[in-house]
Amino acid sequence: GFVSLIGRPNVGKSTLLNSIIGKKVAITSSKPQTTRNIIQGIYNEEDAQIVFVDTPGIHKPNHKLGTYLNRQAYYSIDDVDVILFLVDVSQNLGTGDKFVIERFKNANKPVILILNKIDKISKDNLLEKINEYKDLYEFSEIIPVSALKKDNTKVVVEVLKKYLPDSVQFYDKETITNKSMEFLMGEIIREKVFELTEEEIPHSITCYIENVERNKNNVVLNGVIVVDRDSVKRIIIGKQGSKIKEIGMEARTDIEELLD
Ligand code: GDP
Ligand code: MG
Repeated sequence: GFVSLIGRPNVGKSTLLNSIIGKKVAITSSKPQTTRNIIQGIYNEEDAQIVFVDTPGIHKPNHKLGTYLNRQAYYSIDDVDVILFLVDVSQNLGTGDKFVIERFKNANKPVILILNKIDKISKDNLLEKINEYKDLYEFSEIIPVSALKKDNTKVVVEVLKKYLPDSVQFYDKETITNKSMEFLMGEIIREKVFELTEEEIPHSITCYIENVERNKNNVVLNGVIVVDRDSVKRIIIGKQGSKIKEIGMEARTDIEELLD
């Protein structure tokens, strides 16, 4: 079956996807709009295959990129069997969440509420949150998790199975994403630029892998960071190349893990 991950930016959609799949198929960051296009993460088990559709977060757009990202998120609501609606319990329930609820209200399919980031609040506080959210919509289930700590994420999979149709296996059992390894490696580099630079930089960049050479014991690749201004280029390179070195080091660590 197909499952959509829906929610405001930054609530932990991509983190949850990665912890369920067990590999970094979607990059994450504390800056909004990290996820730029629809990424499928595929979870395989003997009796089930769940295709998770990770989306850019839904938000009130104030520029073109935002409008485009929203459109992708809405698109995925129509094409799935179940919706996972994620919220961040460490934040107050706000208009942002209600805005998202409006989008799936008429979809007429099961919506499971995932209360994420429970590691950041107390048990009492969590009970209050459950009460607050449960009246907003008729959720099929409510599951508290910590995507980061992998707390209760297995329960999400178990519960989801109940709502999936008896359908054909869409991908073979070894497939974990619809994206190529090259795409994922480029995304990891983009994630590191996100993490290691200030606010305005990341949105103007694109990363891709130019070529990959697979040897007996290692993989050699050239990653390209495309910028639109010289000033951005200077920041990414850093003083005597210190920033680009740091980006490279951190990206290599994650890429090694991805490639085993
Ligand atoms: P997305 O925009 O919804 O895809 O959110 P991300 O998955 O990129 O996560 C946004 C930020 O929240 C990142 O810095 C994550 O490390 C952090 N995060 C995600 N899940 C949790 C969680 O369960 N607990 C805590 N403390 N942080 C989390
Ligand atoms: Mg994301």
